[in-house]
Amino acid sequence: MECVFCQIVAGKLPSDIIYQDDEVIAFRDINPQSPTHVLIIPRKHIASLAELAEGEASLMGHMVNIANQLATKEGVAQNGYRLVVNCGQEGGQLVPHLHLHLLGGRQLSGTMG
Ligand code: AMP
Ligand code: ZN
Repeated sequence: MECVFCQIVAGKLPSDIIYQDDEVIAFRDINPQSPTHVLIIPRKHIASLAELAEGEASLMGHMVNIANQLATKEGVAQNGYRLVVNCGQEGGQLVPHLHLHLLGGRQLSGTMG
């Protein structure tokens, strides 16, 4: 098993997990880009957003719901936050296991691409 996030799901690689349920886990990014930087990932290995099957749309919805809940828990919901999914090489995806970035805790940059 070489996928780094699958290893985190399996508990074979240490991580700072702040939420988990049957479908997803959330943990702090090892190289945070903002005071709050959490990754929400499916337990199931899905290589990227482009690999998400039509029938898995509810999984993505669940990930967004969890991100919203964690934004409140982390205290960034009121001032605002950003959810990001990088997809593929030119989308800036480095880890080939679907993940949602939750960023917040400061004024985020206005650049989009
Ligand atoms: P992306 O560029 O969208 O693929 O983002 C991958 C993210 O995963 C980056 O923000 C990395 O800092 C983060 N990351 C990589 N390895 C780990 C790890 N072992 N634990 C936590 N975060 C990680
Ligand atoms: Zn994986």
